[in-house]
Amino acid sequence: MSQQIPVKDISPDPVKVYEPQYIDLYAKREKIHARAISGFFQNIRVTTLYLTMAVFFLLPWLNWDGRQAILFDLPERHFYIFWWTFLPRDFFFLSWILIIAAFALFAATVFAGRVWCGYACPQTVWTKVFMWIEELAEGNRNARMRLDKAPMSLRKFIRRSIKHAGWAAVAFATGIAFIGYFTPVRELWFNVVNGNLGFWVGFWLLFFTIATYLNAGWMREQVCLHMCPYGRFQSVMFDKDTLIISYDYHRGDPRGSRKRGTTSIENGLGDCIDCNMCVQVCPTGIDIRDGLQFECIQCAACIDACDSVMDQMGYERGLVRYTTENLLEKTGTGTYKLFRPRLIGYSAALLLMVGALLFTLITRVPLTVEALRDRGQLFNENNAGWIENSYTLKIQNKSQNEVEFFITASSSEFPLSLQNSPIRLSMAAGELATLPITIEADPANIPSHNNKIEIHVTRQDDSRIQATTHNTFLAPR
Ligand code: SF4
Ligand code: SF4
Repeated sequence: MSQQIPVKDISPDPVKVYEPQYIDLYAKREKIHARAISGFFQNIRVTTLYLTMAVFFLLPWLNWDGRQAILFDLPERHFYIFWWTFLPRDFFFLSWILIIAAFALFAATVFAGRVWCGYACPQTVWTKVFMWIEELAEGNRNARMRLDKAPMSLRKFIRRSIKHAGWAAVAFATGIAFIGYFTPVRELWFNVVNGNLGFWVGFWLLFFTIATYLNAGWMREQVCLHMCPYGRFQSVMFDKDTLIISYDYHRGDPRGSRKRGTTSIENGLGDCIDCNMCVQVCPTGIDIRDGLQFECIQCAACIDACDSVMDQMGYERGLVRYTTENLLEKTGTGTYKLFRPRLIGYSAALLLMVGALLFTLITRVPLTVEALRDRGQLFNENNAGWIENSYTLKIQNKSQNEVEFFITASSSEFPLSLQNSPIRLSMAAGELATLPITIEADPANIPSHNNKIEIHVTRQDDSRIQATTHNTFLAPR
């Protein structure tokens, strides 16, 4: 069922009387044929596209210390990032990194709006690659629109097939690269070539291939408009000094076509020649002259398009440009205010969190130890009359090498000894070992029923790497 709601016309012209416009809330999606454009901001976007793609596709192939540098080994529950090994119990690092990423996004949004969406979001980057393939296979905007309207023919079939084959190839390569972060990538390629994938690897490869193909090929701006939560809440993070892409209505209106080489004043018009180029290049199909809209992903294509039009007309560039609401209202007389409380707050919180994370990572000891008391028996008296307490140690070697550790015990309250001391333990990289130990003490020296003790595990070749666990030593009252 379709429902219509009136839309307020936000054009700034106070004299003109506007009729309310209506939109159909359940309207069928109109396919957008964005015109390709080049220019200063598109060059930046292409550079970030190459960078993000290079990082994404090449990172799994990087080796570190004889193994894949970045590998999230889910079956083994070991997550390798260069020299660090993380285990499931280290998952608070992941939450920490996600919180930092959220704050980085907040700070970037307050500063420059949806700069992430326009330049680095995978959805934008992959969509741009898919649009290139489309243009290669089906031609420019006009040719694509003609092809869309034309009945099916051999030529149309071939062009469409080339496009979809190109999309599928990129989507498949993306799927392999993504799975390569979770399973050794060289093995994965070997298995792909030999058609020897296991069920789950095959399932996820197919899943990510289809997801990429649909998101970047078919859904495109629909993902930004209807699926991405950031697009919906980003506007509440804007303030009047946030850099946004805007049309300068003071300078552009009233709009109208005119002869090339004539000035706006001669024509009694503003600088906008109403050529619609800014609309034709927009990947989300909006008109930037209608003001700030949530559909705008700030790709800056409209800036490059309008600048090229201004160049052809011999007018000053920047009719559509990065500016702020305050600057626009003050028609060029205001100054850009960079230091605002919200931006300072987000940046300070971000710096603090990044600093604390780096400090924790740099000072992190690649070893954990935990001692569990023997629950069956509180204590035991041996033949010599000494009191014994038994524990089970759980030691994890979080380093990426085979290492030997030695185990000691101590107490600040009384002298004790560890049976079979010194205990040595050789552990493989990432190994979790369980080791029963017994601590004994002369009852004459034990001060109370419940005494504090410490158990230390120290790396044989580097005594600075040591982990200590605290526990209790029980004795008769
Ligand atoms: S309005 Fe301009 S910046 Fe926004 S999405 Fe469209 S082309 Fe990109
Ligand atoms: S590209 Fe520039 S001149 Fe052309 S319609 Fe858009 S704002 Fe006006």
